[in-house]
Amino acid sequence: MFSCWLSRLCRGLSTPTGRITHRIHGSLSRRLMLGSRRRIPELSSFVARTNTCGELRSSHVGQEVTLCGWIQYRRQNIFLVLRDFHGLVQVLIPQDESAASVKKILCEAPVESVVQVSGKVISRPPGQENPKMPTGEIEIQVKSAELLNACKKLPFEIKDFMKKTEALRLQYRYLDLRSFQMQHNLRLRSQMVMKMREYLCNLHGFVDIETPTLCKRTPGGAKEFIIPSREPGKFYCLPQSPQQFKQLLMVGGLDRYFQVARCYRDEGSRPDRQPEFTQIDIEMSFVDQTGIRSLIEGLLQYSWPRDKDPVAVPFPSMTFAEALASYGTDKPDTRFGMKIVDISDVFRNTEVEYLQDALSKPQGTVKAICISEGTKYLKRKDIESLRKFAADHFNQEVLPVFLKANRNWNSPVAKSIMEEQRSELIRLMDIQEDSVVLLTAGEHRKVCSVLGKLRLECADLLEARGLVLRDPALFSFLWVVDFPLFLPKEENPGELESAHHPFTAPHPSDLHLLYTEPEQVRSQHYDLVLNGSEIGGGSIRIHDAELQHYVLATLLKEDVKLLSHLLQALDFGAPPHGGIALGLDRLICLVAGAPSIRDVIAFPKSFRGYDLMSNAPDSLPPEELKPYHIQVSWPAESEAEKSSLNQPYHPES
Ligand code: ASP
Repeated sequence: MFSCWLSRLCRGLSTPTGRITHRIHGSLSRRLMLGSRRRIPELSSFVARTNTCGELRSSHVGQEVTLCGWIQYRRQNIFLVLRDFHGLVQVLIPQDESAASVKKILCEAPVESVVQVSGKVISRPPGQENPKMPTGEIEIQVKSAELLNACKKLPFEIKDFMKKTEALRLQYRYLDLRSFQMQHNLRLRSQMVMKMREYLCNLHGFVDIETPTLCKRTPGGAKEFIIPSREPGKFYCLPQSPQQFKQLLMVGGLDRYFQVARCYRDEGSRPDRQPEFTQIDIEMSFVDQTGIRSLIEGLLQYSWPRDKDPVAVPFPSMTFAEALASYGTDKPDTRFGMKIVDISDVFRNTEVEYLQDALSKPQGTVKAICISEGTKYLKRKDIESLRKFAADHFNQEVLPVFLKANRNWNSPVAKSIMEEQRSELIRLMDIQEDSVVLLTAGEHRKVCSVLGKLRLECADLLEARGLVLRDPALFSFLWVVDFPLFLPKEENPGELESAHHPFTAPHPSDLHLLYTEPEQVRSQHYDLVLNGSEIGGGSIRIHDAELQHYVLATLLKEDVKLLSHLLQALDFGAPPHGGIALGLDRLICLVAGAPSIRDVIAFPKSFRGYDLMSNAPDSLPPEELKPYHIQVSWPAESEAEKSSLNQPYHPES
């Protein structure tokens, strides 16, 4: 494990170039790559060491070196393993009388103390090499040592294999960052971002432009954090994305913009979200969907880590309607099958009341998924828990169907289904002896959503039982296109809201429907999905002020005054334009194979949005709120909290 992280880290550090680049981008990139191939980063410039711990090999034998690092562990007061960001190296603690002071320092300093050692690189005696350690052929014969800072007793050991709660890791994040895993993730992130900048700016002429983070509120869309100002009753907002600014940059003739943009959404806790997150934000003038898609495919190909299989382009694409019908979601995980099959036609003349009922309603369907080898891997209690999941979360009856009738656990209806339409079902769904079919009936969208969720639940269950469905080395990219422009509002289905955001252009062939059946209009919005996670989304924008006004005022019933600056800008010669944003945290999380996006962010917020290290958000005394004309109106039950204003608060520990 150790050596695996280490060698990946070392490879990445010593040769920062991508091997597949010149194949893709021709001569321009070749020039750039040849130029940068010579630039191997100098890791010990300007500092009090000659080398890093992790870089030393047999080729360094005989060299006098000075190293700085943390004491990882000590064995029998003879060996000490020193660690820095680059790796581990074994140090020989001198045993002779004349070096007593060096021995004292190295033997007495507690683990995780910071020391500087100087000495000679020597080969390990034959038979004592450690092939698991990249530096395992050598050791350092120390001549002098200095204790730079002693370490007190730590709240947890700095060893990747030591289990610690996430709350503890976040409370002592600076210690957690010392782990090889976190070091690897953050360096991987930095390298990928660097390559993205290179691709965008140097290969394709993009301009990196910062946009404000104190903004005016945007109507509609995600919930924004508000920031008080010194003007009574006036507030800024933190941007949920630089959307308006990037469009205005196009009006300003900047033509190709990008930014590694910090964005903020006050959306409560979600396992794969953070209140503040980073997007690779992009906008271009005179571009269509194909142009944006090719740009992103090239960008990912170029910045992809060299130790992974190269990214194959172009990425496949699927319409929103198809994604919903076959996978029950707009972010299908296409690494495995188990697709949803519409079997309504098989049951047109059914006697089974449940199915008859469903089919007689508008949009009524019967659909199913087939879990091959299901009888082998799933237990009766698994099937029951899947059915319960559908009942609890969707109020939907799901019937398990088996080829062998005696397996019809709890489902006499399913038995008659199988007998009636047996051969047709077997043909349509490719049912085998050991398959389990999960069948349900009802309104198209709902049934798709239920089966889509069950499909993923089943995959988790099967994998927990040892079947590999989703190859961890596989990266399955997918464009989802032709989204509806509007969706019914969740809280008031009679009204419309934007499926992406209100600046998204309608599909040109549906333009006429905008004035008659707006809910039928498809948009020029595209999402990028990786292994079932949405990692990006964007659209071609409306650049016609009149159309934008109509969408905002008439269809979305938004207060157009809030966006008068944008509407005016569109009237002053706005070029056609479009863009996209990639969610950097999620992308890196998937590439790193990390369990949570918090594992690829240096200082993330907790699941509930707290900074457990510094205790933010925190209360402020009333005098400090005065300049902002703000008073806290404490909810009754928080009186107790108010009195404990200055107590350290660890909501998640
Ligand atoms: N601003 C959009 C978002 O954050 C992306 C885009 O349309 O470019 O999702």
